[in-house]
Amino acid sequence: MRPPICFICRKEFSLSDGGGTVRFADYEPLPKGQVGHPDGLEWFCEEHYNRAVELKEHSSREARALFSSE
Ligand SMILES: [Zn+2]
Repeated sequence: MRPPICFICRKEFSLSDGGGTVRFADYEPLPKGQVGHPDGLEWFCEEHYNRAVELKEHSSREARALFSSE
């Protein structure tokens, strides 16, 4: 897993401030025993988390495009 850095604003944040991970349509779990960060799983700061959850039916790439068009 990567540290909590927002997928949208690239802000490094503390989980105690809110935010979290969102699984998008392109989420693929890592193979058993493999260490790393799975595709389609992204961190969002408190400010961007709720909107990210609304966009989770999209792929992470589409979600980022939708964020930047708002
Ligand atoms: Zn953010």
